[in-house]
Amino acid sequence: MGERGKKVAVIGAGIVGVSTAAYLLRAGFEVTIVDPLPPGSATSYGNAGMVRHDCNVPVALPGMLRQVPGWLADPLGPLALRPGYALKAAPWLLRWVRAGRMDVVNAAADALSELHRGNLDCYRDLLGAGPFGDLIRPVGGIQVWESEEEGLSDRITTEINARHRVVTEPLSVEDLKRLLPGISGIAKRGLLYPENAHTINPHRLVTALADGVRRDGGVFATERALKIVPAEGGGYMLLTNTANRRADIVVVAAGAWSNRLLKPLGAGLPLETERGYHLMLPSPSIELQMPVQMKNRGFAMSPMEHGLRLAGTVEIAGLEAPPDERRARILLTHARALFPDLKGGEPTIWMGYRPSLPDSVPAIGRAKNHAGLFVATGHGHTGMIGGGSTGRLLAELVAGAPPHVDPMPYSPTRF
Ligand SMILES: Cc1cc2nc3c(=O)[nH]c(=O)nc-3n(C[C@H](O)[C@H](O)[C@H](O)COP(=O)(O)OP(=O)(O)OC[C@H]3O[C@@H](n4cnc5c(N)ncnc54)[C@H](O)[C@@H]3O)c2cc1C
Repeated sequence: MGERGKKVAVIGAGIVGVSTAAYLLRAGFEVTIVDPLPPGSATSYGNAGMVRHDCNVPVALPGMLRQVPGWLADPLGPLALRPGYALKAAPWLLRWVRAGRMDVVNAAADALSELHRGNLDCYRDLLGAGPFGDLIRPVGGIQVWESEEEGLSDRITTEINARHRVVTEPLSVEDLKRLLPGISGIAKRGLLYPENAHTINPHRLVTALADGVRRDGGVFATERALKIVPAEGGGYMLLTNTANRRADIVVVAAGAWSNRLLKPLGAGLPLETERGYHLMLPSPSIELQMPVQMKNRGFAMSPMEHGLRLAGTVEIAGLEAPPDERRARILLTHARALFPDLKGGEPTIWMGYRPSLPDSVPAIGRAKNHAGLFVATGHGHTGMIGGGSTGRLLAELVAGAPPHVDPMPYSPTRF
C-alpha cells in the first residue's frame, strides 16, 4: 500500500506517534519523528501500563455530574480542579458533561471496542513474539469496590461489557483474599477481567517500538515543532526550533500539546489535559500478579519490573501549572487502605498529561481543511490500550488503503 517514498513528519514520540511511525514505514513512507524528548518520555512514560483490549467504557457516564461536587470537596478524591484554571476548562467540562448522555456513551463504547480489539495483535506484530512476551503480560486484572451495592456507573459498565462480550468473573470477599493476600476489609466485592493484559514497563514498551522504527529506517529528530506551514505547491514546511523540514504529509501525534500546532491551522480539537500521577514503590512488600483497580478512588496498582506503581487520579489544571505532589502521595494513602501493611522503600513520584477529548474517543484521521495533515491524539485514559491500533489505522488512512476498522467514529472533524 501507500505512495512509497513520500516524506512523512510525525510530531510526537509517545506511544501513539511511535506506533504510527512504525506502520507508516511498513507502508513504504519515508518517516521522520520530531520530538525534543527521547521516545516515550512524556505521558507514555509513567502510566499504569494497562493494555487491556476489553476496556471500552468512556469516562463521562450518566449521573456523574451529581458525584463531581463530592469528589472535588474530598482532598483524597479522584478529581481535582485548580480554581485558577476552572474558567478556562469550563467549555471542555460542559462538553464532558454532555458526553455523559447514554446515546453518546454507547457510541463511544462501540468505537473504543473496535479500536482496542486488535491492539495486542499490533504490539505483537510490531515487537515480535519474544519482546512482546517479555514486555506484556496477558494475565488478567482485578477491580475492587468498597460498597456491596452496584452504582449506576457499575450497571452501565456491566451492560457495555455484556454488549461487547467482555469476559468477567465476579469475586467474593473470600476470592479477593485468596487472590490478593493481605487485602483489607474495605474491599467488599471484585471483578476479574481474565483477558486483561498489562505491560511491566510502558516506557520500555515505547523504546522497544522506537528501536524497531530505527531499524526500519525511521529517523528521530530531537527538535520541537513550532509551526506547521502549508507550502506553496503542496506539502508542508515544519518549522522547528533548529530546522526547516519539508514533508509531503504531517501527522500531529503530540499528545496533550497537539492543539498548539493544530489551532493556528484552524484544525483545533476540544482537547484538554487530565493530569494524572504515579507513585513508585521500588521494593514493595506485596507481590501482585496483576493490576488492581479501585474505580471509586480513581487509581490502580500495577506490578512493574522495577517495583509497584500506584497510578491514577485526575487533575484539571492545564499544561502550565506545576505538579501538585500531594496528588501523588494520596495514592499511597489509597493503596494502604487496601493493603494496610504495604511498605516499599523510598517512593518516587511522577506526573503525566492525558490528552483527553470529552467523549473519550481519540481523534484519528485527516485534519479539518488541510490535505496531507493528519491527527492521532486524544487517547485520554487509554493511549496504551489503543496506541498500536491507532498507528495501524492512521497509516492505512495516510496510504489510502482499506482501513481495518471503520474510521468514521474517530474523525477529527466530528466536533
Ligand atoms: C496516571 C496515568 C495512568 C494512565 N494509565 C493508563 C493505562 O493503564 N492504560 C492506558 O492505555 N493509558 C493510560 N494512561 C493514558 C496514557 O498514558 C496516554 O493516553 C498516552 O500515553 C498518550 O500517548 P501519546 O503518545 O498521545 O502522548 P505522549 O506520550 O504524551 O507523547 C506526546 C509527545 O509529543 C511530544 N510533543 C509535544 N509537543 C511537541 C512539539 N511541539 N514538537 C514535537 N514534539 C512534541 C512530547 O514531547 C511527547 O513526547 C494513563 C495516564 C496517566 C497520566
